[in-house]
Amino acid sequence: MKIKTRFAPSPTGDLHIGGVRTALFNYAFAKKNNGLFVIRIEDTDISRSTKESTTIITSAMDRLSMQSDEPIVLQSQNTKKYQEIIDTLLKSGNAYKCYCNKQRLEDLKITKKKEKKTYKYDGKCRYNKEDKNLPFVVRFKNPQDGRVEFDDLIKGKIIIENSQLDDFIIARSDGTPTYNLCVVVDDITMKISHVIRGDDHLSNTPKQINIYKSLGANIPKFAHLPMILGEDGKRLSKRHGASSVLQYLDDGFLPSALINYLARLGWSHNDLEFFMPDDFFKIFNLKNVNKSAAIFDPAKLLWLNQQHIQKTDKQEIADKLLQFLEKHNIKATIDEKFLFLIEAFQPRAKTLVEMALMCKNYYKDFNKYDEKAAKKNFNRDAIEPLECFIKNINNIDNFQKDEIKTQIQITLDDLKIKMPHLGMPLRAALTGGSFSPSIEIVAYILGKQTTIKRIKNAIKYIEAFA
Ligand code: GLU
Ligand code: ZN
Repeated sequence: MKIKTRFAPSPTGDLHIGGVRTALFNYAFAKKNNGLFVIRIEDTDISRSTKESTTIITSAMDRLSMQSDEPIVLQSQNTKKYQEIIDTLLKSGNAYKCYCNKQRLEDLKITKKKEKKTYKYDGKCRYNKEDKNLPFVVRFKNPQDGRVEFDDLIKGKIIIENSQLDDFIIARSDGTPTYNLCVVVDDITMKISHVIRGDDHLSNTPKQINIYKSLGANIPKFAHLPMILGEDGKRLSKRHGASSVLQYLDDGFLPSALINYLARLGWSHNDLEFFMPDDFFKIFNLKNVNKSAAIFDPAKLLWLNQQHIQKTDKQEIADKLLQFLEKHNIKATIDEKFLFLIEAFQPRAKTLVEMALMCKNYYKDFNKYDEKAAKKNFNRDAIEPLECFIKNINNIDNFQKDEIKTQIQITLDDLKIKMPHLGMPLRAALTGGSFSPSIEIVAYILGKQTTIKRIKNAIKYIEAFA
C-alpha cells in the first residue's frame, strides 16, 4: 500500500506550533517514504470553523513549503458521504437511533457521579426496534466484549477493553456527523496509510478502529505524538507568547529554522542539532520520536534562527528580506549593494526583522543617532577629520570602494591620525550606529551625495551638542 499521510486541522483559529509539528511529521514521513501528504480541513463544526482560519492555515503551510500533494479536502464538502456511511451502519445493525432525551442522560450522569463511576451511555436504545416520531441521535454499537489492540508506532502496544468504551454518538440530533465518524470515513476514502497526530487523540483511536472493523475497511497504522509543553509544564498555548506560526514568520523567523526546531523537539538523530528541511526529510523516522512530552524553548528557537540566517545563501536571505524592508516603506532591489549589507549583517542578526532594522538607514535618512554611538564617537576632535574627508572625496568623480579607501588613507596621512579617529565618527555619521560593513563599502552604498550630506549633519550635531 502506498504511504499516504494527512494533516487534518480544525479551522478554528491560528495554526499554532503544536499543529505545525504534527503537520511536519506527517509531511516528513510521507516524503521519506516516497509517499503522499494531503491537507484536510476538518470544518464540520460550523459554529467554530471559519473561512479565515482555513486561509491562515493553508497560507502558513504554503509559507513553510509543506504543500498538499492532492487538492485540499474540506470535510464540509463530504456530508453526503458521511450520511451514506451512517445509513450503512444503521442498516447493518452497527449503529442505532437513540431517543433518550437530555434529562435522562443528565440523570444518568448524576447517578454515575454519585457512584464515583465514569459516565457511559447505558445502552437503553440499543435493542429498540421500532422507529419513533421523536428527535434522535445515532450511536455506534460498540462491541461489548473483547478488546481493541493496536501497535502505536511511537507508544508501542496499546490495549483497550471494549467494556471501557460506550456507544458513542456518530450523528447529532440535527443529523450532523461527529468527529470520530468523519475522520474514519475520510481516512478510508482518502486511502490514508498512516495516521500521525497528537496523543490528545489517543482515546479516540479505539473507537475509530471499531468503526473501521464494522465497515470491513483496512485499518491504517497509528502514531501518536507526545504533546508540546510550555516552560511551566502546561500544554503550550497562547499564554506562552507567540504560538501562532504566522506570527513567528512575521517576526522574522526562517521557515527552515522553525522546521529544524520543531523537528528536534521530540525527535532526534544522534547529536544532530542543525539541519535544513530537505536533509530532515531524508532521515526522519518515527522510531526516533520521543515518547514523552517536549518543552518548547523560545530562546533555543531564536538561537537556531540565527544559525539558519548565517548558513542560508545570501541571495535567499535577500529575497526574504525584501518584504521586511517593505514594512519600513523601503523598496529595495537585490543588487551588489544590498548583498554587501546582507553579508555584513548575516553573522549578527537573530531575525529578519532585526536585519531589516540594521539595513534601514542605508535606504532612508534617519533623524536620530544611536545614543551610545553618538556619545562615544561625536566629540569636538572628530570635526577636523570629518571635514578633511569631505574635502578629499569632493575631488573624486569615481566614487568606488577602492577610490574611497584611498581617500580615507589620504585623510589619515594629511592629519597624521590613526584610522579610529576618522573611522568611528564617520561610521556613526553615515549609519547612525556603531556597526556596519567596512566604511568604504558604507560610503559606496550611500553614494557621494548622501555621504557628504550625512557627514555635514553629523558635524552640525557635534557643534550643537558635543
Ligand atoms: N481535527 C483534529 C484536530 O484538529 C485532528 C483529527 C485527526 O488528526 O484525526 O485535532
Ligand atoms: Zn437512548
